[in-house]
Amino acid sequence: MINIILFGPPGSGKGTQATKLAEKYELIHISTGDLFRYEMGNDTPLGLKAKEYISKGDLVPDSITIGMLENKLNKHPDSKGFILDGFPRTIAQSEALDEIYAKKNMAVKCLLALNVEDEELVKRLLERGKTSGRADDSDVNIIRNRIKVYGDETAPVYNYYDKQNLSKTINGVGTIEEIFDRLCTQIEA
Ligand code: AMP
Repeated sequence: MINIILFGPPGSGKGTQATKLAEKYELIHISTGDLFRYEMGNDTPLGLKAKEYISKGDLVPDSITIGMLENKLNKHPDSKGFILDGFPRTIAQSEALDEIYAKKNMAVKCLLALNVEDEELVKRLLERGKTSGRADDSDVNIIRNRIKVYGDETAPVYNYYDKQNLSKTINGVGTIEEIFDRLCTQIEA
């Protein structure tokens, strides 16, 4: 079983690459951002709560996010593995993930971090905002907050898995295919 965490700041290309990797390695792709957007689109209580945070570029509290992720994992008992995109984003989420996987006799195989510099991220997100319809992609202040939150709260997750020798950094600048090849090389190594 291959359980991968695709890591990196907002706009680093996680969603695009996770979709391609899921197809190639027959993994279940779980994006917590997509799950929240689905709930928001349906105006569910969870979606309304998440919106309070997402609209500002802050993280949705762990108490909400971890339960939602666990429910989703439980829906695929027969999968060949998972590729998580946008989770874990805090140390508490990392610890919870390790516990959830351990209960299922599973473990994180590797964390692959896409490295892209901040100004390039801002440019990419503003560009994506023109068509994504995402309010959090259209306002430069919200984008800058998301990048700051990544540095403050999410970047430590890299070190958490690095201590277990599971973290790898991948150059996230290039064509989609170039970056995909770099990721596949790491997965197969
Ligand atoms: P994304 O689509 O991954 O960029 O996520 C969009 C927004 O959803 C983020 O800016 C957060 O507000 C929220 N979000 C997504 N995943 C998480 C997570 N694992 N923990 C907390 N908030 C999250």
